[in-house]
Amino acid sequence: MGCGTSKVLPEPPKDVHLDLVKKVEPYCGYKNDIYKHFIKDDGGDAIKSGFPSPPRHTNPYASGCSPTRLEPPEPRKNRVAKYRAKFDPRVTAKYDIKALIGRGSFSRVVRVEHKATKQPYAIKMIETKYREGREVCESELCVLRRVRHTNIIQLIEVFETQERVYMVMELATGGELFDRIIAKGSFTERDATRVLQMVLDGVKYLHTLGITHRDLKPENLLYYHPGMDSKIMITDFGLASARKKGDDCLMKTTCGTPEYIAPEILVRKPYTNSVDMWALGVISYILLSGTMPFEDDNRTRLYRQILKGKYSYSGEPWPSVSNLAKDFIDRLLTVDPADRMTALQALKHPWVVSMAASSSMKNLHRSISQNLLKRASSRCQSTKSAQSTRSSRSTKSNKSRRVRERELRELNLRYQQQYNG
Ligand code: ADP
Ligand code: MG
Repeated sequence: MGCGTSKVLPEPPKDVHLDLVKKVEPYCGYKNDIYKHFIKDDGGDAIKSGFPSPPRHTNPYASGCSPTRLEPPEPRKNRVAKYRAKFDPRVTAKYDIKALIGRGSFSRVVRVEHKATKQPYAIKMIETKYREGREVCESELCVLRRVRHTNIIQLIEVFETQERVYMVMELATGGELFDRIIAKGSFTERDATRVLQMVLDGVKYLHTLGITHRDLKPENLLYYHPGMDSKIMITDFGLASARKKGDDCLMKTTCGTPEYIAPEILVRKPYTNSVDMWALGVISYILLSGTMPFEDDNRTRLYRQILKGKYSYSGEPWPSVSNLAKDFIDRLLTVDPADRMTALQALKHPWVVSMAASSSMKNLHRSISQNLLKRASSRCQSTKSAQSTRSSRSTKSNKSRRVRERELRELNLRYQQQYNG
């Protein structure tokens, strides 16, 4: 949601006691000094919070950085041709590359069509000549090869070369969770529980297999198709941890997206898959209000809020939200992971169970979409002003900002039409 969320190894608040973790686990990205953070999708947070950006040479797509931000966007045809050239002939012999649909620090996601069957797919191409890219790819493949669930994106096949890995996946065409909510025109607690039920089903399945996603957030929840009855799918397993022994196996690596990181990760305690349940608490809060439970441009203050589990139900639309829904969130945003609900318990929570059967519900859409748009707009503006004061950012992030601004304009327009037109 919004501009500039980034995946990091976070800097802890200065006054928080830390147990420095020497030993690190397999699969997860960043095995060096825990203070060295890593930003996977560089969207502006790093500059706002005064954190240094990662060295640009680690990002294969950031080469050719330019301080100029005013280049016109490349024509679409050229862009597609450029990405097509990066594809191994074995891939292009089987698939037609159609369009670029997503990008990360080490990856590009393109829409393709299977030449023989004309079926559409997504291919995530990951550069593996750099260590970070290799590690992200390893995590993702390790998980995707093991899973098969209706709410988890399915891996179809993999092509590997010396420098790149191409993952052919199911294509999700329905867009991200919040874009859909804004566009929908109505959103009730019942709708929220339907979304959460699907995500919880997927998470329960992952946890049963000993897999922890570690980066659950709205951007990684995609609708399968644009229709109203579309299922939602969990994507992006680049930070996931896959264990053989099951739930009781502890993880230590500090990673995630700042606003969604569980308190036990921040204090560097060994943690379990309950960090995903914390992230689901954050997602539930946003889903019902369009606002973040924990938010501060300053990372230290943000982490302090998270560590205290300090959030409130003030402002619209909270007075219209049921106490049962708030209880559901409270049981996920519980600082002590031992007291936090598991995926199974969350699926059995009375709010989820009773709402699924309920019919007439209050429409929370107006406040939620207003809040979502307000937040997205303010984040884009602060990213913009941060950019104007720093000239060393890559054209890559500039491009992604441009896309987001355009998206935001479109969403704003849709919203105006809905309520004023
Ligand atoms: P990253 O690790 O860089 O965040 P993701 O796997 O989240 O990589 O992919 C980046 C973006 O590409 C996503 O936010 C989404 O918009 C798009 N994307 C990824 N996988 C798919 C897919 N299977 N179908 C449709 N779009 C996808
Ligand atoms: Mg992602």
